Amino acid sequence: MKSELIPPQQALPDSRGINLYEADPSFPALLALYLDAKLHRHLLPHLERMGVLAGDELDELAATADRNPPALHHRTRAGEERQWIERHPAYRRLEQVAFGDFGLAAMSHRAGVLGWPEPLPPAAKYALSYVYVQAEFGLCCPLSMTDSLTRTLRKYGDAALVARYLPGLTAQDLDALTQGSMFMTEQGAGSDVGGVVTRAVKDGEDWRLYGEKWFCSNTDAGLAMVLARPDGAPAGTKGLALFLLPRVLADGTPNSYRIVRLKDKLGTRDMPSGEILLEGARAFLVGDPARGFVQMTDMINMSRLSNGMRAAGMMRRALTEALFVARNRVAFGRQLIELPLMRRQLLKIMLAAEAARSVMLHTAYELHNADAGDDGARRRTRILTPLIKFRACRDARRATGDAMEVRGGCGYIEEWSDARLVRDAHLGSIWEGTSNVVALDVMRAIRREGALDALQPALEEMLPKDAFGETLRASVGRAVAFADEVANKREEIHSRQAATGLYYAVAAAVLASEGSRLAATGDARRLLLSALVLQHRLQPRDPLARASEDRFAAALLPEAAVPHEQVNQLLKK
Ligand SMILES: Cc1cc2nc3c(=O)[nH]c(=O)nc-3n(C[C@H](O)[C@H](O)[C@H](O)COP(=O)(O)OP(=O)(O)OC[C@H]3O[C@@H](n4cnc5c(N)ncnc54)[C@H](O)[C@@H]3O)c2cc1C
Repeated sequence: MKSELIPPQQALPDSRGINLYEADPSFPALLALYLDAKLHRHLLPHLERMGVLAGDELDELAATADRNPPALHHRTRAGEERQWIERHPAYRRLEQVAFGDFGLAAMSHRAGVLGWPEPLPPAAKYALSYVYVQAEFGLCCPLSMTDSLTRTLRKYGDAALVARYLPGLTAQDLDALTQGSMFMTEQGAGSDVGGVVTRAVKDGEDWRLYGEKWFCSNTDAGLAMVLARPDGAPAGTKGLALFLLPRVLADGTPNSYRIVRLKDKLGTRDMPSGEILLEGARAFLVGDPARGFVQMTDMINMSRLSNGMRAAGMMRRALTEALFVARNRVAFGRQLIELPLMRRQLLKIMLAAEAARSVMLHTAYELHNADAGDDGARRRTRILTPLIKFRACRDARRATGDAMEVRGGCGYIEEWSDARLVRDAHLGSIWEGTSNVVALDVMRAIRREGALDALQPALEEMLPKDAFGETLRASVGRAVAFADEVANKREEIHSRQAATGLYYAVAAAVLASEGSRLAATGDARRLLLSALVLQHRLQPRDPLARASEDRFAAALLPEAAVPHEQVNQLLKK
């Protein structure tokens, strides 16, 4: 019961229990652009169900699991040497929903998940995960690693290995499920993975691994992909081979590696990340031993794309919370959403969130085509993946922080979702490659894959055939030319600036394309967002210009190029 001392109109608005899918009214129509009509219809009730869960039960479970991190045990109570990681029941329930009920890790690899007769396309997986991650980020790491390990194993592993492990990796029954992980990083080999010193020693048909892995998320997963150097192999990434490491051997005994300790982390506190000592652990070689690192990049890139999706989802949650607060809290006799500076703040969060969502869905579309054998789509996916990983993860740090401020003092209090979002968002841009390293990878994609030759015409094809489209074309051209020059002249110092420009050029083009198609239904919001990306992220801007020339403030003025009613459209329910 609320205190009688507080008048109802002054009581704190509480968003617990809102449907996070329905709170995002443009999502169904947007998704319809990326899924065929039958699949779209089929998925809507599942998205609806995920929205209900994410806004209520999952959100509460995530908060509980976050307060009760996993614990590593080394011995049974009877003194038997046995290691296991104890997880809170709230985390187990989060696993049940993600791996079990929705089959998020299995749906790309087999038919029958969510009653669909074929494996589901990437856009479907990312759409559902995008709603799930709005409640829980930590578990999305094991989900993504299980999904991407399965993909890499199917691509490069020999048939017997695939046949042995595929059923467990794609199981939805948690008792039968085998989760995945990846152990690459060592103390002297993080960004510079070529420094890996873990040894791989041939032992009959098998291999044995010796070394120490310094960051191992989902530490006790049933299977891990591991990079190690066979004795006598060359230095650097060229000498790395890829191995599949089972936690338990065929005879049921534990494999020879030890979890030394778990990390005490800022975010993802409910998911274990540990240090592992490989003491002659048995492992299976995956694919060509001379191409271990190249093969591993498939898993890394899928994890990077998943990170981009998660950043987009976290920004959407931040935006939904900020809009909720702004619509339901009153200050100085007015609803917050009526206040000019608050509207400006909300639009900035929205811009980052919507740009990321469009790039995510577009990349999912390109990935689908790439997997079907389209080489242009493969080259585009190659560059879009580090682009979204780099920029969306950076933007999520800021957007979640800005949304925290919208809730005022309560935003800083752990009972609300804002603080957890901020903590988790900071991880996205560190793991799977820091921002510098991923921006350099964008440049590598340009140099080695000729990715811009595939990307630019595809972006231009998307632009509206009108004056706005022409303005966009000029900005896309500038962003591409700048990135090309930076990459080919190897001007490392400008790599982040060039990757940022390219990301927003992609976002503006995709938003314009979506907007043009949706405009036919009377919804001009994505065209407007495209215009704001163009003005605020791609065109020159004087930081000391008066408010009428400040793009966001200008968007709020009645006489501005972007009419007031259209901004109202963006902020309305
Ligand atoms: C919670 C958590 C979980 C993780 N889980 C896993 C896991 O499951 N498996 C796994 O293998 N790894 C995991 N990692 C490791 C993670 O991927 C690495 O920490 C990350 O890639 C950075 O490597 P590093 O820590 O060695 O930093 P370093 O490589 O030492 O980087 C330090 C700084 O140098 C910068 N830098 C490096 N190279 C360049 C360059 N060429 N130009 C400019 N700047 C540069 C980086 O941007 C960074 O700011 C995890 C990390 C964390 C925090």
